Amino acid sequence: MNEVQLEVAKAYPNDSGRGIARLDPDTLLHLKLSPGDIIEIEGSDTTAAKVWRADRQDWNTDTVRIDGFTRQNADVGIGERVKIRKAEANKAEQLVLAPPEEASVQFGSDAAGMVKRQIMKRPVAQRDIVPVMSSTNHPFMRSPGQAIPLIAVETEPEGVVLITEDTDVELREEPISGFESRGAGITYEDIGGLRNEIQRVREMVELPMKHPQIFKKLGIEPPQGVLLHGPPGTGKTLLAKAVANETSASFFSIAGPEIISKYYGESEQQLREIFEDASEESPAIIFIDELDSIAPKREDVTGEVERRVVAQLLTMMDGLESRGQVIVIGATNRVDSVDPALRRPGRFDREIEIGVPDESGREEILQIHTRGMPLSDDVNLSTLADETHGFVGADIESLTKEAAMKALRRYLPEIDLDEEDIPPSLIDRMIIKRGDFQGALNE
Ligand code: ADP
Repeated sequence: MNEVQLEVAKAYPNDSGRGIARLDPDTLLHLKLSPGDIIEIEGSDTTAAKVWRADRQDWNTDTVRIDGFTRQNADVGIGERVKIRKAEANKAEQLVLAPPEEASVQFGSDAAGMVKRQIMKRPVAQRDIVPVMSSTNHPFMRSPGQAIPLIAVETEPEGVVLITEDTDVELREEPISGFESRGAGITYEDIGGLRNEIQRVREMVELPMKHPQIFKKLGIEPPQGVLLHGPPGTGKTLLAKAVANETSASFFSIAGPEIISKYYGESEQQLREIFEDASEESPAIIFIDELDSIAPKREDVTGEVERRVVAQLLTMMDGLESRGQVIVIGATNRVDSVDPALRRPGRFDREIEIGVPDESGREEILQIHTRGMPLSDDVNLSTLADETHGFVGADIESLTKEAAMKALRRYLPEIDLDEEDIPPSLIDRMIIKRGDFQGALNE
């Protein structure tokens, strides 16, 4: 059969959640494909995607760009190889979507229609994760710009199917067991800027988790702890979640200040339990936010609790047996306040600085957070990036949400709050304008 092997690369921010694969002209020619055709992507699992042409910079690199959802569907990571071949997709008569385990969603009355419009002409295979974009005008969605991963529980017929006008799309609120919403579905495409930082985290965390034998062979110890430091809101938590998700590792999160309990022994007990659970469910990532608050320099410590928690954390980290399979990622805004004992070899001995984004980083973050938003043509994200000097990722996220709220306020007079259904024509008309961003910026 006519197929090629390509290396997986991450999708461009704007491509994420659209079920597309970017291939270069050589590959298209070789597989007799045109943009818009459907391909099968085979990793450890097989999925389907729609073909788009790769940007010139990717030509002759033997890569295929696919987003985190497609990577999960094919069960491959960035840098791994997949087989690609042309697929025959039948028209879908029926598609049933349900949320993954532990996810709770409530669908509004026209949700099925909106979802269908979003996934029109897209290929879907049974058991695929189908990302559905939330936006301010989807009442059932959690936050704008984030994709809700739904699972294709049933398709009729089976195999790879194409969603058309005639497809009957059914949404179930009952979560489907056997599918976890790994790391809340955060992928590398959800992180703007930070290219080198992502690369370093991948080397330090992904590599030992996926290929422990490399470290063994070279006789080096995989890292046990990685410290991410930098100002708040720059994406440290996001990065930790993305790595967990991309490696299919379990993710455990500890909020520094929360674990400090006034009850004797309780904090240590909690820490112990988390480390035990992580070891049982390895590979796993334990994320400790605000590490400086539980493990401040010991001379700064006045409380007895903190002293005991630091001691416990050191014991747990030193005692981790499954080297490389449980990695602790600590985050702090104040790297100098972290107890030096924690930064010794075998503990948090790797550090990555996560800085404030530059202009191109800000533009990428803007693209990410406006992904699910209906933007008017007068909104220019590169101009906005220029106007948001000093903003970190979290600031940019609030800016986009605020702009969406400003837009919403424009339409409020047309919305009857007592009516259950909002007319679809109004929803289709809603857009966010440059003025909304300006208004949000001036606040
Ligand atoms: P930190 O852990 O560094 O304090 P977070 O990762 O919790 O920051 O960021 C808070 C929110 O801000 C994220 O959920 C995300 O929406 C947004 N954000 C921060 N940094 C970025 C980034 N580099 N790219 C995209 N979004 C970001």
